[in-house]
Amino acid sequence: ARATIGLTGLAVMGRNLARNIARHGHTIAVHNRTTAKMTALLDEFGDEGDFVGSESLEDFVASIQQPRAIVIMVKAGEPTDAVIDALVPLLDEGDIVVDGGNAHFTDTLRREQALKEKGLHFVGMGVSGGEEGALNGPSIMVGGSDDAYEKLGPILESIAAEVDGTPCCAHVGPDAAGHFVKMVHNGIEYADMQLIAESYDLLRSVAGLEPAEIAQVFREWNDGDLESFLIETTAVVLDHTDAITGKPFVDVVKDVAEQKGTGRWTVQNALDLGVPVTGIAEATFARSLSGHTEQRAAARKVFDTEPEGAPLDDRDAFVDDVRAALYASKVVAYAQGFDQIAAGSDEHGWGVDPGAMATIWRGGCIIRAQFLDRIKEAYADEPDLTTLLTTPYFANAVTEGADAWRRVVATAVGAGVPTPAFSSSLAYFDGLRREHLPAALIQALRDNFGAHTYARVDRDGTFHTAWAGDLSEVES
Ligand code: NDP
Repeated sequence: ARATIGLTGLAVMGRNLARNIARHGHTIAVHNRTTAKMTALLDEFGDEGDFVGSESLEDFVASIQQPRAIVIMVKAGEPTDAVIDALVPLLDEGDIVVDGGNAHFTDTLRREQALKEKGLHFVGMGVSGGEEGALNGPSIMVGGSDDAYEKLGPILESIAAEVDGTPCCAHVGPDAAGHFVKMVHNGIEYADMQLIAESYDLLRSVAGLEPAEIAQVFREWNDGDLESFLIETTAVVLDHTDAITGKPFVDVVKDVAEQKGTGRWTVQNALDLGVPVTGIAEATFARSLSGHTEQRAAARKVFDTEPEGAPLDDRDAFVDDVRAALYASKVVAYAQGFDQIAAGSDEHGWGVDPGAMATIWRGGCIIRAQFLDRIKEAYADEPDLTTLLTTPYFANAVTEGADAWRRVVATAVGAGVPTPAFSSSLAYFDGLRREHLPAALIQALRDNFGAHTYARVDRDGTFHTAWAGDLSEVES
């Protein structure tokens, strides 16, 4: 056996990850259910490094040095279970099985438990950056035992993206911690993209700019606090002209946004944890709404008058307001995502270091942004911070942008342009900030019809009012 690591599942992600590993001088065993993908890899890229190809799973396992490290890069869900089930009988105690697919973290919890009972390490590895990242340096979020990371860490850190000499790869915590933060990462990505899309819509529908002009605006934004892969990519996409029609590319793409599920998972889990991730939730629902084409067509027929909206008296000022609103909303979306990571970590006892997540998301992944340096610094200054929102840098950004944020949301409402992520982020900010919330009335109503009791502002204890009787209050 001469391979230091093995990888099975050679579709786009697995193939590129295998090439990345080989290019970094590690001998890698490769396998795919359909052998042609394995032989194609060796034919096309075999000279990039030391690959050991196998047609059968048995030969593949036998070609890897013990204790073995085997990365599975297949379709998430049942296919992953099928591959694990086929692999396990061929393995020896102490071997490490790594799932690099987009597994739901609860599947990872289950698989880790099952393999531990067999004396095997199971690692849930979140990989971000798409196929390009897999080849040239992804961001890698590893969940698993210390022993497993000791062996895998050096290989993974060598293939990950690097920012300021620091690899974008971290041992997030045990078992499913890596897949959990990858899930939230994707949720944040949903929110980020929705905020960008709303900004584009406002610049086009309210400010009247053409896609190419909006591309220029995004390029300018990319020189400031908003500098990020997604802002840069938005400029590229908006600048693109469709070859067939000569129209802006964005106008020939059907306005139906699909989803593979990680945004939905993030929101479902946030509901369980009781963490308001309103930006991510609205982003996920906005994609769902876009897909309800029949309802949209029906609604367009019935509600066919556009609100007039107030005329824009200063277009440049509005564009700058949108930038400020985008930044403030983005701060909220990230603060919410980091709250969810903290809550998930508490719930499962993972001990996730949020600052380390900001550090490894600075490169390789889709949400890579200059902004993450600020998050990393905020956690370095105050590891147990209550919310990112109130740390000096972000508090300042939100305070400075608040008036612009309100103007943008008000303008959007007036013009009938939906900005669910902008609006819900602002509502979240105001909800946190206000001294009194109408939750008092909700709690009073709950006591009225369900005897759910309430706490008082002026005395300790739990109280109930005899709503159906003499309206006297009893302490319970
Ligand atoms: P796919 O998700 O399309 O999966 C295809 C691979 O799975 C093929 O190698 C296929 O083998 C294998 N496979 C499917 N069913 C089985 C089975 N029952 N038994 C054995 N092998 C099976 O590939 P991707 O490369 O897009 O993604 C791989 C993983 O990485 C997924 O979990 C995905 O969610 C995740 N991921 C993807 C990203 C992306 O940008 N695409 C980004 C980050 C993570 P065969 O060739 O024989 O059909």
